[in-house]
Amino acid sequence: MQVHVVGNACVDTTFRLCRFPAPGETLNAIAYADGLGGKGANQAVAAARTGASVTLWTALGKDSAGAWIRSRLDRELPDIQANEFDLPSDRSTIVIDAGGENFIVSGVACCEAFDPTSQTALAHRLAPGDILVMQGNLRGAATNACLRAARENGARTVLNASPIDAAALPDFGLAEVLVVNQNEATALSCRGDMAAAADSLAAKGAGTVVITLGAEGCLVVGSGQTGSFRLPAPHVEVVDTSGAGDVFCGCLAGGLARKMSVRSALKLALAAAAIAVTRQGTLSSCPSASEMAALID
Ligand code: ATP
Repeated sequence: MQVHVVGNACVDTTFRLCRFPAPGETLNAIAYADGLGGKGANQAVAAARTGASVTLWTALGKDSAGAWIRSRLDRELPDIQANEFDLPSDRSTIVIDAGGENFIVSGVACCEAFDPTSQTALAHRLAPGDILVMQGNLRGAATNACLRAARENGARTVLNASPIDAAALPDFGLAEVLVVNQNEATALSCRGDMAAAADSLAAKGAGTVVITLGAEGCLVVGSGQTGSFRLPAPHVEVVDTSGAGDVFCGCLAGGLARKMSVRSALKLALAAAAIAVTRQGTLSSCPSASEMAALID
């Protein structure tokens, strides 16, 4: 069973500062580095490290940044299907202060131009039992078209509705599993109570709703055999939570592709995300393939 992740890949440039600059002020960073990023790339790499077979469908610019992203992806994933555009590759600047607070500015030209269904190969490659994983970065219509193609081909669908574009929300009824964090759950349901928010999202048609609760683990509201339940997160010493949500989603998809039940795949996702939060960085904090294997055995 193949995991197909359709989503963005970008260069994340991270600057670590003592404090944020005031408007008009220039500050020298304590440290700075480029890294592979983008929710699509992050989730594809996490899924691949569970041992699942993964294809990443993404969009890159025909520039040096696009070549750099491609070279990094090639180290992690055997199958990358990239649409190339005469546009600047997507990139984010992440600024982190001494307290770990951050702000992020993103350029998303390729992601906005990306129409994965124009890659007819995607529809042809989606097979019964495969897992299609999508996030909230693409245009809502493009996301819906991919989810629909998956359903028509008998593939399962995991939608991580993040980030949220309220003007172009995907159709949650096309998601077999919908994953959101607490902020997203509140924004999408207008409910502050997470159990009520999950019920409200389930009523929009998603088969199983998973709300990630940070250190509290996750809340699941599902139909049929899945049922409703909470799963705790392992207690760990937190260093940096960035990227934990992507590790969670990628491992959930990887677990499902390895024929785990939803509950077992969620337990794997919780264990892997707990490791990720004990480390600095986004993709660099994701457990390695051998660490994943130890979690699965
Ligand atoms: P992020 O934006 O930091 O990637 P998120 O805001 O999308 O994450 P969270 O609910 O904060 O989502 O975290 C996702 C998952 O990461 C949680 O369900 C949990 O499994 C794990 N996690 C996050 N924080 C902790 C923590 N303090 N201890 C253990 N696990 C954690």
